[in-house]
Amino acid sequence: MGIKTEELHTLLSEIIQDETRILTETFDLVSYSFDASFGSFTPDIVVQAMSTTEVAAIMKLANQHNVAVYPRGQATGLSGGSLPVHGGIVLDLSQWNDQLDIDPIDMVATVSPGVITADINDAAMKEGLMYPPDPSSAHVSTIGGNLAENSGGPRGLKYGVTKDYVIGLEVVTPEGEVIRTGGRTIKNVTGFDLTKLIVGSEGTLGVITEATVRLHPKPLATKTMMTVFHNIVDAGKAVTLILTSGIVPSKLEIMDNASIVAVEEYEPLGLPTDAGALLLIELDGHPRAIEDEMERVKEACTKAHMADVQVAETAEEEQELWKARKLVSPAIVREKPTKISEDATVPRSKIPEMFERLMVIKEKYDVDLVVFGHAGDGNLHPNIIADKRDHEEMRRVEQAVGEIFEAAVDLGGTLSGEHGIGTLKAPFMEMELGEVGLDLMKRIKTSWDPNNILNPGKIFPEPGQKLVLTDD
Ligand SMILES: Cc1cc2nc3c(=O)[nH]c(=O)nc-3n(C[C@H](O)[C@H](O)[C@H](O)COP(=O)(O)OP(=O)(O)OC[C@H]3O[C@@H](n4cnc5c(N)ncnc54)[C@H](O)[C@@H]3O)c2cc1C
Repeated sequence: MGIKTEELHTLLSEIIQDETRILTETFDLVSYSFDASFGSFTPDIVVQAMSTTEVAAIMKLANQHNVAVYPRGQATGLSGGSLPVHGGIVLDLSQWNDQLDIDPIDMVATVSPGVITADINDAAMKEGLMYPPDPSSAHVSTIGGNLAENSGGPRGLKYGVTKDYVIGLEVVTPEGEVIRTGGRTIKNVTGFDLTKLIVGSEGTLGVITEATVRLHPKPLATKTMMTVFHNIVDAGKAVTLILTSGIVPSKLEIMDNASIVAVEEYEPLGLPTDAGALLLIELDGHPRAIEDEMERVKEACTKAHMADVQVAETAEEEQELWKARKLVSPAIVREKPTKISEDATVPRSKIPEMFERLMVIKEKYDVDLVVFGHAGDGNLHPNIIADKRDHEEMRRVEQAVGEIFEAAVDLGGTLSGEHGIGTLKAPFMEMELGEVGLDLMKRIKTSWDPNNILNPGKIFPEPGQKLVLTDD
């Protein structure tokens, strides 16, 4: 940092009139040193920004004095995107949540960066609309974080992910200029699509200060069913058969035997603990169409040697079936405290092969690997449960995670379908993009951020950087 913290504090006080929004106490700095991933990096100062003018002035100041700025929402990121790896300023945008305007005629919502994602959907629902992107963290993460990570969830299969809904942004560039991209129209082909470039850029190309997102009509009805399989490969085949039968479920989630057993031990729900895997399937749309589609889904699963099926007849039964999926995360961390949640994604056709490779990796490195996730779009969540205090175990986990990435890329997939690259996956970027692809991205970053001020140390590997899952 090219300036003393005290001096930086004084200059920031000229921008942020409310002194309580500038944090310098050790306990504050420590609480801003973590996110939901690995590692701890203490910032020099934290600023809670509440307006575009403030953000623009902070970015200009940071450029002038060569200070790193780390945008942050609710810090639920799983790849280290908000961590201040080079110190400097953490720019907390989570308090800036005053605007949530729903326009039911244009079917758009305009929101401040700190608005909680689920609140957008809740507000839309009151107008007979919905905001489809549904990361599991929707109740605790911000729309700014979702946009920066291009987050998605179970509904991604039918409705797409965050990038498919954002049509306009206000962004402060790394040099402190304010730009507007896109607008309020669904069609817009004027110039480069900078909106799409910003979405998923993990806070490295600009600070999102306002977003306009599309809303979708709320479906008339939903129906949920659970289909059970003797082995996971059959379940993977069922996914392909369902999707090639002309039906796109709104959700199509998979749980392997280890996750079924873990949930049942955590809270008995009557799940089949001898099953190799189960699929949780939600159909939505017109009630009569759903009835017909349900029969087709059953036929497809029968062809894949389905062992059993259960259809929820009431809203309570529907919630009970989804409870199984919701409980996987808390259930699997009962034995050991550390959860390494990956999101390697493969083309749908490769799901059965990916499962086979995961089982080989589990045996080879003797790790507690549990697989669940969004089977419908190939976005699996191989989760390894470990204890980060056990360094020998963590070295095996690091090797297993590296091989999971290799397997996904080898099968034509990607390192990350949801959680982003951040610090954790940066060492693997060249494996997926190649030298030239990665270099082109670096050149884009340099042209936007010549002083490398905004979120440095993310996406692009630093010299000699390796995957490290321990704090020391
Ligand atoms: C229990 C749990 C479940 C999860 N489930 C899912 C899931 O189903 N799907 C999924 O995709 N992810 C999931 N995540 C990951 C995480 O919730 C998402 O990445 C989320 O979008 C992060 O939002 P946040 O507000 O916490 O952002 P942060 O973690 O604070 O930041 C994430 C990134 O966004 C940048 N950023 C934040 N705000 C802005 C802004 N206004 N402008 C520019 N950059 C910004 C940060 O610099 C950082 O790079 C889960 C996480 C947890 C802990």
